[in-house]
Amino acid sequence: TTAIVVFTRDLRVHDNPVLAAAAAADHVLPVFVHDETLATTGFATGPRTRFLDECLADLDAGLRERGAALLRCEGDLVTEVARLAHEVDATAVHIAADASAYAVRRQRRLAEALAGRCELAVHDAVHTVLAAGTITPQGNDHFAVFTPYHRRWAGAARREIASAPRRLRLPPAVSAPEAPVGAGGESGMPGGETEARRRAHRWLGEDVDHYHRRHDDLAAEHGTSRLSPYLHFGCLSALELAAEAGARHTEGADAFVRQLAWRDFHFQVLAARPRAAHDDYRSRADDWRDDPQALQAWKEGRTGIPIVDAGMRQLAAEGWMHNRARLITGSFLAKTLYLDWRAGAAHFQQHLLDGDIANNQMNWQWVAGTGTDTRPNRVLNPLRQAERYDPTGDYVRTWVPELADLDDPRDLHQPWRLGSAKLRGLGYPAPIVDLDTARDRFQRHRQVDRTAS
Ligand code: FAD
Repeated sequence: TTAIVVFTRDLRVHDNPVLAAAAAADHVLPVFVHDETLATTGFATGPRTRFLDECLADLDAGLRERGAALLRCEGDLVTEVARLAHEVDATAVHIAADASAYAVRRQRRLAEALAGRCELAVHDAVHTVLAAGTITPQGNDHFAVFTPYHRRWAGAARREIASAPRRLRLPPAVSAPEAPVGAGGESGMPGGETEARRRAHRWLGEDVDHYHRRHDDLAAEHGTSRLSPYLHFGCLSALELAAEAGARHTEGADAFVRQLAWRDFHFQVLAARPRAAHDDYRSRADDWRDDPQALQAWKEGRTGIPIVDAGMRQLAAEGWMHNRARLITGSFLAKTLYLDWRAGAAHFQQHLLDGDIANNQMNWQWVAGTGTDTRPNRVLNPLRQAERYDPTGDYVRTWVPELADLDDPRDLHQPWRLGSAKLRGLGYPAPIVDLDTARDRFQRHRQVDRTAS
């Protein structure tokens, strides 16, 4: 028997049910197709392409240790896999189930292309801890509120952790392709399973136990795991990570596992409602303003509100942004500037290494108050957020160098207090919006409770 294992964003050899199932065949052909459609839709930006290349090189190394190698091809995934299935006379093709409309369509096309030729095995719970749809509330095909979802999620039965295959044999007709040349690795976040496991090991060693206290501290170096890009590309199994963290039984580790449930939560929303990637999920808001200049200032981190600009500049520099900063910058775009969340989501998707349809779009909807937030009309006040989550001003100092020499955190967070001449001298812009006026505007647009947070 010959099995093809199609890697998508499950780029690992440990706890990979797709690879484990394929490994039962006599011969295994591991394949990754650089999807030509995704390459042209903003998914394949420079840093993400670099990260993906590193992931693939590391996966290839892991497969070579086991006697196989990764075949990389370009084009349409369905056409390429069908061609290879024919060439190696495959008995089965294995692939992970995914939630986006694009992935579901692709899976359907693949089933059609292989029908009558060989078996197609689509594996669940590869990207998440629980497969979408495993738990549902009464009368609905998915959970729309997180708290009851989490309650059920925590007690739900999980699949077994799949062991990494010991030995894989390529089909006789296939010779191992040349090993890819290493990608240099000078970046702050190198891709790949080896690096992911190293980081997870370090994180679970101790830092995780402080998570409940530090996770919102914008300037804390090890306040959160920074594992999101590795989870997105599947260099790490969320199931394995949740099991290892959960076994610590500390308050911090439990809070961390709860975030992995958020990840599953968004995935099951998208799986049930693929259109939520673009359409407002719950409440419709279609009176967004059109203000290209404000949008551009937000993208470039020069809105004149330092905590917002710090977040946007961290995104540009690192391809990652702290969750609290994502909430602040997202709320600022959608509720303060009153611009369509889709424009913000597209910018994030383009720059985030962890950019993920389910997590990005659904979090954006949450922030914009069109999604699953049960208090959709609260507006984050960026100044209060800054006081609370960057009390020393160190986060702003790191990312907004124009202000780095200011000692008093109040000046750092509200530099306009220093007067317009001083502000100009620092080379930092005045705010592009008056926060109080913007708040009133938002409240006029929506019927709002006036609680600030
Ligand atoms: P940790 O705090 O260490 O959390 C551990 C893991 O839990 C994360 O790696 C992530 O996989 C998951 N997680 C944590 N918070 C959330 C959440 N709110 N929703 C879903 N999963 C979560 N996360 C993405 O993975 N991809 C995205 O494209 C993305 N876009 C976002 C856009 C906005 C507007 C907002 C507010 C949040 C977004 N998030 C996204 C969620 C969250 O900000 C990141 O997962 C988190 O900041 C990643 O850093 P970390 O790995 O240090 O997280």
